[in-house]
Amino acid sequence: MNRQLPEVPTKLLINGKWIEGSQEAVAVIDPATNEELVKVSQGSTKETKDAIDAAAKAFATWSRISPKERADHMNKIADLMAEESDRLALIMSLEQGKPVKEAAAEIQSNVENFRWNAAEAQRVYGEVIPAPEENHWLVRKEAIGVVGAITPWNFPSNMIARKIAPAIAVGCTLVMKPSKETPLSALALGDIFQRAGLPDGVVNILLGSSAEIGKELTENEIVKKITFTGSTEVGMKLYEQAAPTLKKVSMELGGHAPFIVFSDADISLAVDKLIAAKFRNNGQVCTSPNRIFVEASIKETFTTRLLEKMQEVTVGFGTDDPTVGPMINEAGVDKVVDQLADATKKGATILVGGHKMTEAPYAKGNFFEPTVIDGITPDMDMYYDETFGPVIPLIVFDDREAVVEAANDTVFGLASYFFSTNLQTISNTAQKLQYGMVGVNDIAISNPAAPFGGVKHSGFGRENGKYGPEEYVTVKFIAIDAQ
Ligand code: NAP
Repeated sequence: MNRQLPEVPTKLLINGKWIEGSQEAVAVIDPATNEELVKVSQGSTKETKDAIDAAAKAFATWSRISPKERADHMNKIADLMAEESDRLALIMSLEQGKPVKEAAAEIQSNVENFRWNAAEAQRVYGEVIPAPEENHWLVRKEAIGVVGAITPWNFPSNMIARKIAPAIAVGCTLVMKPSKETPLSALALGDIFQRAGLPDGVVNILLGSSAEIGKELTENEIVKKITFTGSTEVGMKLYEQAAPTLKKVSMELGGHAPFIVFSDADISLAVDKLIAAKFRNNGQVCTSPNRIFVEASIKETFTTRLLEKMQEVTVGFGTDDPTVGPMINEAGVDKVVDQLADATKKGATILVGGHKMTEAPYAKGNFFEPTVIDGITPDMDMYYDETFGPVIPLIVFDDREAVVEAANDTVFGLASYFFSTNLQTISNTAQKLQYGMVGVNDIAISNPAAPFGGVKHSGFGRENGKYGPEEYVTVKFIAIDAQ
């Protein structure tokens, strides 16, 4: 497939205009070749302040127009994203590495997010509370104000859409900062917002030093809400920075999902779903299964089936639509290499894969062989640390109660999965898992209609579903004495 970068803006979007930033432009790197795709403009504190001011100005009108009018804008944006899905998917695949088919599915999620929130925000109802005669007790839900949003590189378009859609649907305006690894998908969306006629300043996009932009977004009094998706470490820092101005905050952070296969599971189903979930975006997903607990009595059958299916997993350039493309950068590859070295040193066995790919045409890129490693135990780094790479770590268990405790033995609490056909096991395990999301014989835990988010060090707040817009409103009580 064509690997030519489609036309895409490379400047900052502030108050409806593409602005050259005050800092030196930096390169966006293609992870398949480690070559430059294009240079993008960079801003800093000054541009952040300008963007916040623009968002505040836009809020005065955007928050007051009718929900229906906002929905019309959003549906137009959704139409354009759908029409231009191929172009947007190619931009994403080139800067992030994922297969174009996955990138196109991500754009389709954006479309659904925009349509769903456009409709839902028209139903963010208030309340009339029973009151004494001649009194009126009313509850109104009002847009919170200017939102500061910071997003990661692994879903460069949908992590943004999930924040922008509910926020603008209820009347908020935003200042958005995508990851430096994948700014182009954000800028391509900005271009669509403009062409769809979204008023100036409703969505502003900043590029530049994340520390400086993040500091201004979290400390500026005009910003009323911070929404962050990324690592737990950075999330904690932003939470602390936002404390002195008492902003409303939501955090979608790291995960370390358990995937439990009980002996009464449909083994073929469990293997197929494991491969689909693990190799989606090359394992660089916060909900990726990272600890695969398999009951001892089926371990051999499960492993044999898994190794058979691994033969169908392909690696290649994202534009050629393999199962997995390159990883995002060398640091990502190094983390996987280090975790595997630590595990094998402590007794684990690599059953397939395990190496960075060094042969042409992959030598210059960040390609890593899809890997299965057996015999993982709690003393190994990968047992407790998020892997964020294409590795299936197998852990054997023989105690059904203890395995749930082991699954909960992590600071994270985002996604979890288990496979069983026994109703009692399903009911008990689903209740005992300390996670924001539980997939039972299923891995499809993310969709626009259902709440997405974690507990513990995976953060707080929810995206999607009726919970999404709630993150961007405040509740006002109006007591009227009409005597
Ligand atoms: P990251 O390093 O935390 O970066 C996320 C965002 O924060 C990027 O835009 C980054 O900007 C910015 N950032 C970094 N340091 C900052 C600072 N000091 N102040 C303000 N912003 C700062 O995470 P990542 O490597 O991009 O993404 C991977 C992590 O995200 C994983 O832990 C994954 O589990 C998590 N994640 C969670 C979810 C969820 O929904 N729970 C979804 C996807 C990913 P620059 O890149 O420009 O430095």
